[in-house]
Amino acid sequence: MQIEYEKNIKINERDALIIVDMQNDFIPGGSLAVDEGDLIIEDINKIASKFKENNGIIILTQDWHPQNHLSFASNHQGKNPGDNFMSEDGAIGPVLWPDHCVQGTKGAEFHNELNLNLADKIIQKGMNTNVDSYSGFQDNDKKSETGLRKYLDSKKIKRIFVCGLALDYCCYYTAMDGLDFGYKVFFMVNLTRGVDLPEGNVENTLKNMKKSDIKFAKIESFK
Ligand SMILES: [Zn+2]
Repeated sequence: MQIEYEKNIKINERDALIIVDMQNDFIPGGSLAVDEGDLIIEDINKIASKFKENNGIIILTQDWHPQNHLSFASNHQGKNPGDNFMSEDGAIGPVLWPDHCVQGTKGAEFHNELNLNLADKIIQKGMNTNVDSYSGFQDNDKKSETGLRKYLDSKKIKRIFVCGLALDYCCYYTAMDGLDFGYKVFFMVNLTRGVDLPEGNVENTLKNMKKSDIKFAKIESFK
């Protein structure tokens, strides 16, 4: 798919960089590793520094599940990670995952190469056993928010820039919710990697974003 990138973006104090779920379990070596997830860390640090220099805000999201979370295949009898599963209210699914980002474990920690010093705020999600939260803004059933919107609005943020893991889940849903909540959204494609589950999911989510008002950006897009 052909992607057109924005040019000459000047970061200001109304901009927020949202770094999604850069945690050990999503990075090669982790339980739900995204291929090449480690290769984006250096550039995420670079862009985060640029935001800092220009008075932008930097937010980290952190997947933070209890051990009995229903997005884990291990909590469903006879199910395996990757199996299709959709709860009636849309709170869990469309697939089940291996155990990941369990509160207090090494896998839930941010990768040690990620520059945490630059973060203004950490937003945790996925704490409700019965509901998953792909989006950094709210639960999948859209019944409760994480506090991200409130924080962004308290800082008068107008534009959000999304990067991190994984492209076709948490980054995608964060970007789409951002749009719904009225922000101008930039998706930093090169600073994400996808899980592509089910197959074709990365392409589909990119197409959906292209059809929406989401813009695409990369490191070279900035002044
Ligand atoms: Zn999760």
